[in-house]
Amino acid sequence: MITLKNVVKKYGNKEVLKDINVEFPDGKTTVILGPSGSGKSTLLRSLDLLVRPESGTLNFGDLKLDYSQPVSKKLSFDVRKKTSMVFQNWNLFPNLTVLQNITTAPETVLGKSKKETQERAKKLLEQVGLSEYADRYPSQLSGGQQQRISICRALAMDPEYILLDEPTSALDPELETQVLLILEELSKMGQSMIIVTHNMEFARSVADKIVFVEDGNILFDDTPDQFFNHPTTRIKDFLSGIT
Ligand code: ATP
Ligand code: MG
Repeated sequence: MITLKNVVKKYGNKEVLKDINVEFPDGKTTVILGPSGSGKSTLLRSLDLLVRPESGTLNFGDLKLDYSQPVSKKLSFDVRKKTSMVFQNWNLFPNLTVLQNITTAPETVLGKSKKETQERAKKLLEQVGLSEYADRYPSQLSGGQQQRISICRALAMDPEYILLDEPTSALDPELETQVLLILEELSKMGQSMIIVTHNMEFARSVADKIVFVEDGNILFDDTPDQFFNHPTTRIKDFLSGIT
């Protein structure tokens, strides 16, 4: 379980996260929704310390971190090791093959053997239907294929949580479907995930829990059924596109 308590993040004088309290349960998929600029990416990035809030606490399993205090290198490494982030623009290493893209971090960061990382990478490629692409370079793949490789790369680190920030927003609808199917499969397998998305249909099908953020506040934190079938007036407006 990840628990954030009283988290405040400011840019200059502007509070973009205002006293956030939220839990992300293990083995579940939490979907973060909200209008553009509401603080979704900031919230997600606070979890792997890409963003550093001014105050509040992060409890991540057995690890505890106070954002207002200096964080040791070890604690920072341990927290980061628990998550892998998949970005909107897949950002694979262009000069490495698909296989190398997946094996590099587990080898260099986790110190795993080449044999182990290659075997794991091959299994992951099989899982996403891209076995025959192992020796190609990212530029030789479609956007949807590259994003599936990014997901393999994240999984290869054996993180407790996969964090995904609009993983399909840069893809054509056709390519998007391939990626969403893989995420739905991971969700069913009980992989802990936190996903920021603007795709409501996907949110509905994949989420165990919905968190709705607006203007740095959490306005809703409950089940998808509650969100989609019993929306408040504000959520109704959001769902009908009046953001
Ligand atoms: P989107 O749906 O467009 O991705 P978001 O909900 O992810 O939006 P954030 O990226 O978290 O929104 O941004 C929240 C607020 O913080 C916005 O007002 C944004 O302009 C501001 N912001 C984000 N990053 C920075 C930064 N590095 N410096 C200054 N302001 C920032
Ligand atoms: Mg964002």
